[in-house]
Amino acid sequence: MHDVVIIGAGAAGLSAALWCDDLGLDTLVLEQKEAIGGQLLSIYNTIDNYLGLHASSGPRLLESFAERIAEASFDLWTNVEIESLDLPAKRISLRSGESLQSICIIIATGVRRREIGIPGEKEFVGHGIIESAARDRDLFAGKDVCVVGGGDAAAENALLLAEVCPTVTLVHRGKALRARREFIEQLQTSHCTTIFTESVVKRIIGNEEVEAVEIVRRDALKPFQMAVRGVLIRIGVEPNTELFRGQLQLDNEGYIATTSQQETNVFNVFAIGDVSNPLAPTISGATGAGATAAKIIASRLNRT
Ligand SMILES: Cc1cc2nc3c(=O)[nH]c(=O)nc-3n(C[C@H](O)[C@H](O)[C@H](O)COP(=O)(O)OP(=O)(O)OC[C@H]3O[C@@H](n4cnc5c(N)ncnc54)[C@H](O)[C@@H]3O)c2cc1C
Repeated sequence: MHDVVIIGAGAAGLSAALWCDDLGLDTLVLEQKEAIGGQLLSIYNTIDNYLGLHASSGPRLLESFAERIAEASFDLWTNVEIESLDLPAKRISLRSGESLQSICIIIATGVRRREIGIPGEKEFVGHGIIESAARDRDLFAGKDVCVVGGGDAAAENALLLAEVCPTVTLVHRGKALRARREFIEQLQTSHCTTIFTESVVKRIIGNEEVEAVEIVRRDALKPFQMAVRGVLIRIGVEPNTELFRGQLQLDNEGYIATTSQQETNVFNVFAIGDVSNPLAPTISGATGAGATAAKIIASRLNRT
């Protein structure tokens, strides 16, 4: 019997684990991936908005987190697959056959990038799908590329690529880009950038590597193919909450509803970080929510 089982070892889960450990709670963290860190692993820009630490990338910030965590005594299991869970009973069954029991559960499963769900999207990972402009820009220098999406992330990546690519075509489903005005203005004045609104990419085409995309424009009669060597997709994120459907109150987008103390609608089940924060997901928000949940649990279990 653990005091707390934390699901997810991103910034939120790790912060909660550290706090739980400091407060004398018997704590186990379950992470589905081999590596801890969650989204931190895919941040290639500098992080200069996390108070007290300035990091050149997410992995560098994670190194600082890991140094501190190495001193703590909570248990951390990686490569764990949860088969099912009974939240009211606080029972978790793992694919490995083990069954876990705890007094409290903290859900910190974060979000994942939304996929378009088109042919080629998975097949060309590592063969023309651009993971991040900040990381992969040099690989695509001198090549024509396509960016799918219309928000800040898509616009920012398109602008980075426009510094090194002869053409960047931004394809957005909506009528107008949703990105901040300064990004849109820069895109509109960039000579190599074309914006297709009310348009969708239907297929990514190629043999070994990406060679073209098939685009459908609302004002065009037929789909057409455009030759590109790279495709970057940024069409938002979605919460990792499939496991909890039917047991927890979720909003329309699938995010977990919580009180200001991070508690869900099930007693002693808490949700922290991006999985319960659709409007303002940040590292500081995630770590702060972890601290809140841990302190509430410790006070409930009379450990403060
Ligand atoms: C490119 C990029 C740049 C960013 N820049 C900044 C920035 O400059 N400043 C800032 O404050 N924020 C930034 N953010 C946002 C910030 O990274 C997130 O808000 C924060 O990392 C969220 O942490 P989290 O722990 O809530 O979720 P995540 O980091 O998503 O972690 C969730 C963890 O849960 C695991 N998990 C999921 N499902 C299961 C399961 N069923 N079982 C076990 N484990 C599971 C995942 O594998 C993952 O490790 C950026 C994000 C991105 C993508």
